[in-house]
Amino acid sequence: MTTKFRFAPSPTGYLHVGNARLALINWLYARKSGGEFVLRLDDTDEERSTEEFANGIQEDLKWLGLEWDDLKKQSDRGEAYTAAFEKLKADGRLYPCYETGEELEYKRKRQLSRRLPPVYDRSALELTDEQKAAYEAEGRKPHWRFLLDQEVVKWNDHVRGDVEVDCASMSDPVLIRSDGRPLYHLPSVVDDVDFAITHVIRGEDHVSNTALHIQIFKALGASVPEFAHIPLLMGPDGGPLSKRLGSLSLKDFREDGLEPMSINSLLARLGSSDNVEPRSHLDQVLEGFDISRFSRAAAKFDPAELRNLNAKILHDMPWEEAKDCLNLEGAGEDFWMTIRGNIEVIKDAAAWWQVVTGPVTPVVEDQEFLTKAAELLPAGEMGDDSWKEWTNAVKEMLGVKGKALFMPLRQALTGQSRGPEMDKMLVLIGREKALARLAGETA
Ligand code: GLU
Repeated sequence: MTTKFRFAPSPTGYLHVGNARLALINWLYARKSGGEFVLRLDDTDEERSTEEFANGIQEDLKWLGLEWDDLKKQSDRGEAYTAAFEKLKADGRLYPCYETGEELEYKRKRQLSRRLPPVYDRSALELTDEQKAAYEAEGRKPHWRFLLDQEVVKWNDHVRGDVEVDCASMSDPVLIRSDGRPLYHLPSVVDDVDFAITHVIRGEDHVSNTALHIQIFKALGASVPEFAHIPLLMGPDGGPLSKRLGSLSLKDFREDGLEPMSINSLLARLGSSDNVEPRSHLDQVLEGFDISRFSRAAAKFDPAELRNLNAKILHDMPWEEAKDCLNLEGAGEDFWMTIRGNIEVIKDAAAWWQVVTGPVTPVVEDQEFLTKAAELLPAGEMGDDSWKEWTNAVKEMLGVKGKALFMPLRQALTGQSRGPEMDKMLVLIGREKALARLAGETA
């Protein structure tokens, strides 16, 4: 049997680190099992879904490297939902309800004040045909509830193990609103049936939905897919992911210059028993991916860990890969190999390119020392050994060594107190600019 997975975002916003994690886990599991990965846009909410967000989600997924085998939009699927609606209605699994929002709210409050669970009382099931006709004559349109079997629904969850949800304590869910539009549940199940989805992997906030979805699958005469519910992400302090950490949208990560592979490396392992390691390619993330290694406990997402991974990925990135994203006119392999160990995000390379090409204002504490050192600079253009030759000469002739020798030279040549290896930097800066900076000039 071919496996088929889906990632089903609602295009009512940009992808967030939490849903990107679900996309990645679905994609990895699909690839691991040789199956298919479907991108399903849950765009039935016409007021909140936009084309811009739908495109943004696709752009973000492509940026992460998570290509999909098929794209489906719920807004194209109205007929399939109507057919399912008619079937459930004909089978007596949907019943019309006429309560207004206020009436329902009143019922709820009354139940709560009597310390009863706020579960829908099914009073609409008692309505006679005359009462229904009277409501219709008043201009009320019904919303439709799914008649739940009051049973315990069980499944074996790939993350949570054996799960049991007692549907007796749940309200019959509204599947169709009074304006005729279906809410999330019915389209989601109908799509999972029609697209032959074999595995539904989503956030653990959907556990109780899954119980009622299983009942809807069965009511539609369809086979029930497998499920995995992934615990939600928490902030580094164990609290909810907060605004304090920034918006945490993929779009922002991309604009901040983070590498997609640092995000993939982190999100594929966070919350699992495997260590998070920097990986440069999705193939390496795929290797060793196993959903059963995810734990039931919430995982902590720390933006500092992401930056740290990003730096590690850049430190090992070959020129072949860096050259396309570096975007610095004239910067070549020598430059990249020299500075890659000193950046956290690719954008930081620009500051080192500025150090190499100038203008740089040297940091000068002792001009006399620098002037004397400049006289000892080896003749001709700077090569790989020039720095060593030069600093040996300065040590010998001027009697300075260690930090007292290297720091003033670094500060004069780069305007910085730390940075890449100076033997390489001297070659990149070149003789002319080095002499000017040693003379205290901005060059
Ligand atoms: N659009 C739903 C959500 O984003 C999909 C949930 C699901 O995977 O079924 O929560």
